[in-house]
Amino acid sequence: MKTQPSRIWLSSPHLGGTEQIFVKEAFDTNWVAPLGPNVDGLERALQQYTGVGHAAALSSGTAAIHLALILLDVQPNDYVICQSMTFSATANPIRYLGATPVFIDSEKDTWNMCPAALESAIKMLTAKSQHPKAILPVHLYGMPAQMNAIMDIANQYGIPVIEDAAEALGSHIGGRMCGSFGQFGILSFNGNKIITTSGGGALLSNNDAMIQKARFLATQARDPAPHYQHSHIGYNYRMSNVLAGIGRGQMQVLDLRVEQRRANYSWYQGLLANLPGISLLPEPQGFFANRWLTTILVDPKKSGGITRETIRLALEAQNIESRPLWKPMHMQPVFEGFPYFGGTVAEQLFENGLCLPSGSNLTDEEKERIAAVLKSVIG
Ligand SMILES: *Cc1c(COP(=O)(O)O)cnc(C)c1O
Repeated sequence: MKTQPSRIWLSSPHLGGTEQIFVKEAFDTNWVAPLGPNVDGLERALQQYTGVGHAAALSSGTAAIHLALILLDVQPNDYVICQSMTFSATANPIRYLGATPVFIDSEKDTWNMCPAALESAIKMLTAKSQHPKAILPVHLYGMPAQMNAIMDIANQYGIPVIEDAAEALGSHIGGRMCGSFGQFGILSFNGNKIITTSGGGALLSNNDAMIQKARFLATQARDPAPHYQHSHIGYNYRMSNVLAGIGRGQMQVLDLRVEQRRANYSWYQGLLANLPGISLLPEPQGFFANRWLTTILVDPKKSGGITRETIRLALEAQNIESRPLWKPMHMQPVFEGFPYFGGTVAEQLFENGLCLPSGSNLTDEEKERIAAVLKSVIG
């Protein structure tokens, strides 16, 4: 019997080698706790890399979004504007707080929040005295959103921005890093992201008091007192010092990982760019994407009837993982009935889009297997 070739993943952890040195240090000094020198070190590295003044290392990106919304005083029945085309973790914390998400369509150049649809949502809400408490744009697959236009609108209406940069560490617009535009930026170090701590995240802000408060809330909101004294509801959201050690090692190879992911994109581009009906997402002028995942759109009208499902199933038959683009939140059963502004850009991206294997650790042999399938389907 022929054995199944080993699985090629969409995006798997890629360690650099120095992670174990930091982790060992945590063991040797018995800093096996939330908080400790690795947490401080990772926060410093993140501040330096992103150019944001302050960072809090947390247990996940989702926790970072939850805390940012709490720090902006989001209350039940408040409105929070959120990009529809994203992973559910962007929107879920809005519901943790009992607030109402208002979903916004994408635009075609970045696949992220459409500034025009954002502005019509704000106008409609403010006309009904439903002033939104926050705007949550996302940098999907590492492509920066139209942050200059989004910040202009946000500032004009006085609404704070929480940038979901979970997939975009290393991406920038004209040298300004994703995560540094809004009042808050959030990062994720989940196992599938461009760098990982196995699980973890961070909250970024130039507002020192806000980050202090985030650290306070993330460690069970203990008031200064010899006994346990609480005047706020707290959370257990801090990153462990052991995992932060992995993060410190990963930060040393982040730029290399960005290079490797971008090389994957170029490789796919060479393979696919001239095929009828297949398109990749170019960077708008001045935009730099970390290319966390390489994604394609498949237009069956131009590809001779081949759809993204044809390609996905052909890859799967060879034990190669690929995945449709995020299903927009306004199409998800759990968010049914919440307001939505825009057209059908996000819907069409979901319908025709596919994420291809994009790990920074893809081997030449794995690439040959992927290329063989793609050529046999669409070549
Ligand atoms: C991964 C991800 C998150 C959540 O991060 P976790 O660390 O997994 O909680 C949020 N938003 C987006 C866009 C993500 O891709």
